[in-house]
Amino acid sequence: MSNTPKVSLILIGPPGSGKGTQATRICERFGIPWISTGDILRAAVKAGTALGVQVQTLLSAGALVGDDMMIDLVRERLGRTDTAAGFVLDGFPRTLVQAAALDGLVAAVPPHALVLEVPEAELERRLTARRICTKCKTLSTSRSLYGSEAELCSKCGSILITRDDDNVLTIRHRLENYRTQTAPLVAHYQARGTLSIVDGMRAPDDVTTTIFKLIDSRRNGCATP
Ligand code: AMP
Repeated sequence: MSNTPKVSLILIGPPGSGKGTQATRICERFGIPWISTGDILRAAVKAGTALGVQVQTLLSAGALVGDDMMIDLVRERLGRTDTAAGFVLDGFPRTLVQAAALDGLVAAVPPHALVLEVPEAELERRLTARRICTKCKTLSTSRSLYGSEAELCSKCGSILITRDDDNVLTIRHRLENYRTQTAPLVAHYQARGTLSIVDGMRAPDDVTTTIFKLIDSRRNGCATP
């Protein structure tokens, strides 16, 4: 067995803070799976599974799926063998109940929680311009908010679309959920000494550099800054 420390991370941040972009880069560098609960739920809706049918209305309204269902889903996902070297959790936990359940699931190696901080006005701007690739799921920013011209993914050339829940009303609801349900997680992880706060307003490459430094210093046994 390798002695390389496991890289297990929780990315916390409001919608539009850059969690997806940073998660892809972290997972590429460390060869660990990106576990996005939003992606898992959207895939279930698309495939029309029993789970998808149950959560479809909640997702399009920007409302949170119940804690028990989310905890079962993440317990099953973290139990798979591909998480042996670590994982990046994106979008979970989102409530204190979920965080307490996760503490129990990963008690042996508590994950490093990273918070991406971005002001709300900027989040609304980013989310209304956000597009997602229909094939490889890469996120990008639309050149024109109102143009009808189809835009293509810079990575694989497939069509970019707007996510169903990236409309102004739903965005406001999701931001409010973040403020009331998810922001309290900052104090939860701060109390455990496993939290780092990252300024998400800087350029994505600078944010990545900061995150890699934080991960490396933690792997090398330094205290979380
Ligand atoms: P995301 O892609 O992380 O923005 O998630 C999209 C949607 O999936 C959210 O607005 C919620 O409806 C649902 N969702 C994802 N993760 C969770 C979670 N941990 N708890 C409750 N609902 C979630």
